[in-house]
Amino acid sequence: MKDNKRNKLSRRNFIFDLGLAGLSIPVLSAGITYTGKEKSKHMFEQNKKDGKLGVALVGLGTYAGGQLAPALQQTEHCYLAGIVTGTPSKAESWKAKYNIPEKNIYNYENYDSIKNNPDIDIIYVVLPNSMHAEYTIRGAKAGKHITCEKPMAITVEDCDKMIAACKQAGKMLSIGYRLHFDPYNLEMATLGTKKVFGEIKALSAGFGFRAQKGIWRLDKKLAGGGPLMDLGIYCLQAVCYTTGMEPIAVTAQSAPISDPEKFVGIEETLTWQMEMPNGLKAECKTSYTDGLNYLKAEAANGSFELQPAFNYSGLKGKTSHGVIAYPPMSQQAKQMDEFALAIKNKRHTIVPGEMGRRDMKIITAIYEAMHSGKSVMV
Ligand code: NDP
Repeated sequence: MKDNKRNKLSRRNFIFDLGLAGLSIPVLSAGITYTGKEKSKHMFEQNKKDGKLGVALVGLGTYAGGQLAPALQQTEHCYLAGIVTGTPSKAESWKAKYNIPEKNIYNYENYDSIKNNPDIDIIYVVLPNSMHAEYTIRGAKAGKHITCEKPMAITVEDCDKMIAACKQAGKMLSIGYRLHFDPYNLEMATLGTKKVFGEIKALSAGFGFRAQKGIWRLDKKLAGGGPLMDLGIYCLQAVCYTTGMEPIAVTAQSAPISDPEKFVGIEETLTWQMEMPNGLKAECKTSYTDGLNYLKAEAANGSFELQPAFNYSGLKGKTSHGVIAYPPMSQQAKQMDEFALAIKNKRHTIVPGEMGRRDMKIITAIYEAMHSGKSVMV
């Protein structure tokens, strides 16, 4: 049975590989030979017939192009059905690369008319942070389920509006928290919450990289803040899922800015502490200058850690008893399939808008603590 499934899958991948390579080799399916455009149309129709949900990616940048679109070639319950872009040349290249019909290509002006398109079931918002709220709300009003990238928005008020818009439309809202589908991070959550090594006595998380000048991530209007919004959010998420708790209070310290022209109105490097209900104080750090990528727990009877902890792949983990190792997988494919299944089976997503809102509340408290120098209740 398993072998049959593998054969079916590898055959599908083989057919897909041909499609991506743009080869004009005839593709055989159900005894019919398809070539060129016919083949593309057939593949698209087949996805629909297979009952897969159609996903439209909004904003064709690094993440959409480098991770999400490739992952959508591996998903079993959803497929890349449409795109929304402000760049006509991307519309052309994506159309050719991913066999996207012209009628499923939108720009930011005609985006709302996506409501008349039955091919699109899910809208995936992959825009700069400050645009998440608008495109989620417009997407919900167009009657589509939404996945919105992290951070969910740049204010808690926007999160509330997004949740309300999806509820009103009777549509589901999920956040692109891919690490909830990553086996290494799930293992950390199990070890921590099941107290496999006893009570956690010390927990630390750090995520940072060197940001290049001129990108929207350094523009407060578009990013909503600095590395805390972009990278630190992974650390606070990790503290919550590793402990199974949410912080009651936070303190935070911003390091001196090294380049005042580059970092205007945003933090460059930030450390903060999350006080958990059981008295544990988790220590976190994020930076747009330093390379950081770890999640470490010291428990009463042993330790467990990941380093790197937050990448798309190549994660490494160990405990005081041995190595944590899992075969390679696509976090994004798993994440998108899980959302498609949640929609199909009418069950909750494990990464709902409410979780995005919770994190925005924690981020707001961290910024308040950073500015006031005081401990802030969450
Ligand atoms: P990019 O800058 O690479 O892409 C953003 C895209 O948004 C652009 O290519 C453009 O697409 C569109 N866009 C529309 N208006 C603007 C504007 N004013 N300025 C810049 N871009 C604009 O960003 P990323 O792909 O890295 O990030 C997008 C979102 O995804 C962010 O919220 C980020 O936090 C999140 N992300 C999540 C990751 C994860 O692991 N979950 C990893 C990386 C990012 P077009 O030309 O098609 O209009």
